[in-house]
Amino acid sequence: MELSPGISYFLGQLSRALLAPGSHVSLASLFCALSIGLFVLAARRYRKGRRIRVRPLLRALFPKSILRSESNWVDVFYFYFNIFIFGIVFGWALLSYEVLSHAVTGGLTALFGARPPSALPVLVSRSIITVMLFLAYELGYWLNHYLSHRVPFLWEFHKVHHTATVLTPLTNFRVHPVYMCIFLNILALFTGLANGVGGYLLGETTHQYGLSENNIILVFFIYLYVHLQHTQLWISFTGWLGHLLMSPAHHQIHHSRDPAHFNKNLGSCLAVWDWMFGTLYIPAAERERLDFGVEPDRQGAHTIWGELIAPFGRAGLLVKRRFEGRTPQSVSLAAPDRKEAY
Ligand SMILES: [Zn+2]
Ligand SMILES: [Zn+2]
Repeated sequence: MELSPGISYFLGQLSRALLAPGSHVSLASLFCALSIGLFVLAARRYRKGRRIRVRPLLRALFPKSILRSESNWVDVFYFYFNIFIFGIVFGWALLSYEVLSHAVTGGLTALFGARPPSALPVLVSRSIITVMLFLAYELGYWLNHYLSHRVPFLWEFHKVHHTATVLTPLTNFRVHPVYMCIFLNILALFTGLANGVGGYLLGETTHQYGLSENNIILVFFIYLYVHLQHTQLWISFTGWLGHLLMSPAHHQIHHSRDPAHFNKNLGSCLAVWDWMFGTLYIPAAERERLDFGVEPDRQGAHTIWGELIAPFGRAGLLVKRRFEGRTPQSVSLAAPDRKEAY
């Protein structure tokens, strides 16, 4: 049967997202997250001397109150919406990555002269560029996230992610297209610079280790705990580990309505950039009572209009007032430090 190009494109995007083993939302990584979640819950029950049965464990992981919530249905919509437009937005960003990478390598060659071919074993040089690109990804992620919280115009688009009142792995996709476009371009900038420097030092043919074209270290963390960051399952890294890695509890703190948690834990897999730039909040080992979301009384939360269209209006109003010489806080529904929103 002949499918329309739009439907074929959508199905292709969906199957790539679910079936490519290195994708951000592969079925394999979701299954891995589910297994880790079940194991953690079972171990906790065992320690308390309670019986371990699969059905109560699954009920604990998938409470009906979360599955049936309006917030969850918006996440499902955003998942399909972003799967569909991801290819288009990614297309805009990919060009700058390639161009920038070659430009940096070319610029360094012009400045310092061509380097002799690297004498390092391929395993070592590829490992170095893999780590460099992962750190560049994490730094770009942190910076984009920091700006999205601190710049009122950008916050209007990032706020969509924070209006989720329950967290599921699909909440990861609850991001406005404008946010995603800026995010991908900042990522392209940072990874392009890193790849350009790496190409100059190690040779332009040195490529990172990857799975489905994603950095292998990033994929490792996606399988390990990135999905669990958007769940209600409290897995907390404290002490030195809490300074290095962004545990699920770290990110749940990031979604908290408690002003003490605002603008904290902005990293993706690593906590080191938050630690370095003073935005780290290490969660307690025992579960902290948290409420998620922003502005509980805001009109339009969990509607397509309120989450997709209205941010343009609010951001436009901010720009207009800025040109009129009025402070953004006088019109913004959320100040950069989010304090006025409460
Ligand atoms: Zn955020
Ligand atoms: Zn989140």
